[in-house]
Formats: sequence, C-alpha cells, structure tokens
Amino acid sequence: MRSIALPASTALVSGCAAIGLGGFNIISLDQEWELGREIEAEIADQLTLSSDAELNGYVRDLGQRIVAGTPMADREWRFHVVEDEDVNAFNAPGGLVYVNTGLIREAENAAELSAVMAHEVGHGVARHGTQRLSQQYGVAVLAGLILGEDPGLLAEIAASIAATGAMARFSREDEFEADEMGVRFTSDAGYHPEGMATFFGRLLELQEREPGSVERFFASHPATRERIERVEAMIAGMGSLDHLATNDDRFPRVRERAR
Ligand code: ZN
Repeated sequence: MRSIALPASTALVSGCAAIGLGGFNIISLDQEWELGREIEAEIADQLTLSSDAELNGYVRDLGQRIVAGTPMADREWRFHVVEDEDVNAFNAPGGLVYVNTGLIREAENAAELSAVMAHEVGHGVARHGTQRLSQQYGVAVLAGLILGEDPGLLAEIAASIAATGAMARFSREDEFEADEMGVRFTSDAGYHPEGMATFFGRLLELQEREPGSVERFFASHPATRERIERVEAMIAGMGSLDHLATNDDRFPRVRERAR
C-alpha cells in the first residue's frame, strides 16, 4: 500500500513550488487560492447554498477539524452546504468543499460524512482540480484567468462545476489518492475511517436502486468495489482504531435538518 506523500505537499505549503503532487500544475498555491475566491463567488450565483446556521456550522466545524490534520492547514478552507437532493460532494480549487443536503441525509453517521468530506479535502490537498485545469487549458490561458483577464472563461468553469457537481472527471488514480488521504485525514480528525467503506457500499446499493440520485457523484468519482477493498486493506494496516468515533452528538440533529 502506497503511503500518503505528506512531506512533498508540506514543501508545497512553504510556497515556492508550483508543481502539484504527482502531476503537472502551473498554478502556485497563492494563485490557486486567489482563483478559488473568484470561483466561489461565481458558484454562489449558480447553486442554492443552504442558509441553515446549524447545518452550515456543523459542516464547517467538521471540515476545519479534518483540514487541521493536513499539510494545508494554514490555508483558508471554506465548506458550503448545497440545497440539492442528489447525493454529491465536490472540491474546487482554493480549498473549497461543497456538500449536498442529499449526501448528508444519506450518511448514517458522522464518520461517514467525515470520510466523504475528507476524501474531497484529499482532492484539494493533492491539487487534482488545478492539475485538471492546467491540462485542459494550458499555461497562457490559465495565467490570463488568474490575472482576471478572462472573466468569460471563469464563469464558464464555474457554470460547468455547478452543472456537473464536480470540478472534473477524476482518474482512478486520483480517486485512490484522495481515498488514501481521506482515510488518514478522517482518522486524524477523530472519526473511524470505516465510514468511507460503509458509505461507498451504500452508494453502490443506491446506484442499483435509484441510479439518478448518485449519477453525478459516480460520474466524477468512479466508485468501484476495488476502491472499497483498497480502503478496507488500508484500515486493516492501521492498527487499533478503537479510540475513533463513529458518531457525535450533533450529527443526528444535523441530519434531520438536511431533510
Ligand atoms: Zn473523488
């Protein structure tokens, strides 16, 4: 089992490197965060964000707890709840994580929600979103985008994120990497990583029962039995995890509010 490349991404946080983990990336972290603020504003126009203070407060607190254990803890991350019945969550550049009410409803406990959010944080820490942008648009176009020279393209990217519920169609390797980070991050946040395996298992069942409700999640996060097996194998190698929580006091109420 591959280990998480934390030393490499720690070096990134120091700010000089513009090479993302494991892939071509021309955007520096400062630039990524700048771009993220613009994408966040565009997305806010296109999705219905929840105004429920308790729901938002919980997702924000859980998100910050997850981020605190990552090499990008010193960056400002923002967690948003989207009013949408589809079971979906996604990461966008600049530390943005969006979670649908439909996903919160489908999670059985806090460990499951934490695992999915930690997976999305994993995509962000591995910088999969900006790697995809770099590959798709190239150096010149992205430089213009960051300098604010191409508001049309920015709106187009945000519209695509809003419509597809995803930053990009990630590769299997991206998914495995985000899963590995997610398992680690959710454990560091105090939640049992088994939540990732049980949640993915439930999504596969849901896919057979109500394919439409998880279509967007699976389009951007190809979930297979293989991913569940890999997660299980990783957990088995982690030693005793008895001290980690499956649930917390706030989650059941929060889940009710997502209905
Ligand atoms: Zn993913």
